[in-house]
Amino acid sequence: MRDRKRPVRANPRAVRTRPSFALTALVVLAGAAAGMGVAATGVIPSDLGALGLRSGPAASADPGGAAAGGASTSVAPITAPDGETIEPLPRVSVSPGLDLDLHSLDDPASPWVVVNKSRAIDPLTWVPPELDSDGGAPMVPEASLALAAMRAAAADAGVAISVGSGYRAYGSQRSIYSEYVSRWGRARADRFSARPGHSEHQSGFAVDVFGSLGCRLKACFADEPAGEWVVAHGHEYGFIVRYPPGAEEVTGYKHEPWHLRYVGVELATEMRERGIATMEEFFSLDPAPEYG
Ligand SMILES: [Zn+2]
Repeated sequence: MRDRKRPVRANPRAVRTRPSFALTALVVLAGAAAGMGVAATGVIPSDLGALGLRSGPAASADPGGAAAGGASTSVAPITAPDGETIEPLPRVSVSPGLDLDLHSLDDPASPWVVVNKSRAIDPLTWVPPELDSDGGAPMVPEASLALAAMRAAAADAGVAISVGSGYRAYGSQRSIYSEYVSRWGRARADRFSARPGHSEHQSGFAVDVFGSLGCRLKACFADEPAGEWVVAHGHEYGFIVRYPPGAEEVTGYKHEPWHLRYVGVELATEMRERGIATMEEFFSLDPAPEYG
């Protein structure tokens, strides 16, 4: 049997506070997991060492600093019965592999901003501070670079991906939407066109791509080489098919295999690995089948 007292000699202070610390830490972590809406499949490791927690004097606790980093979870410093503060490391990821607080879901400049029929861009007339067209259409620089890299990789594989609309201004979306409404009526227009202020294209993180002109903005794009390639490899460049098949009740849109949304490699890969196709479901947001 192992000598369980050995750690006491190595680090008496840590072991002295360990029993209550362990219990509190697990409760706090479980609470954080529930509060974040993460599938608590997230596994709470039995070995506290794996949590990346450490003990330290109260003076070193710096919750403000951790928050300012923008990457911390809600795990607060823990006070042991003897008054000693035990400070978790700033970055403790409850969901293995991805810190769900890494980016804002509300800030229109965030690659994780969620825009749908119940979540308008705020402010409504938002314009990204910077746009470039490296990828073939105006997008925020990070997304544009990713699009360029993705198209180059596809081309290396013999698949041509052409680019349609990227960033679209509030005013343009307003014109497009009212054109559709006058032609088809509001109910039909809402199924395939966003109302102004509710289009991801306004964020500069969305782009419509195509293979052949014949299947541009059409369901048949999904069966073309370019459509199949983006499904298989888009996540490697940070893109998801934002309106996947069978999710109209969640996203508010029919399958749009051509509408790609840049969310970053980390999130796109995590969504794929966990088999969660929509941002609404991944972040436990309300489904947005219709305008409120
Ligand atoms: Zn689109």
